[in-house]
Amino acid sequence: MTSVDLSEFLAVAGRPGYQCRVSLVLASLDSDHAARLRAALKAPEVQSAAIVRIVAKWGTVLPLTYNPVRRHRAGECSCE
Ligand SMILES: [Zn+2]
Repeated sequence: MTSVDLSEFLAVAGRPGYQCRVSLVLASLDSDHAARLRAALKAPEVQSAAIVRIVAKWGTVLPLTYNPVRRHRAGECSCE
């Protein structure tokens, strides 16, 4: 039951060089907008779809899409 080898999965976690879209978008924003986005990402009452819509309205260089936001909030990306 517990003898499944998970090493291939564990090896990819935090793979260097991989950057999540959320962190790239955060880096491209000015400090005011970045702080607002960080706060929204941490607020459970803010829906991921709402974050995508608001960030799109800000007109970022790199468009932020739903899946990276969802993965980032679920802690499934390589951000700290
Ligand atoms: Zn992330």
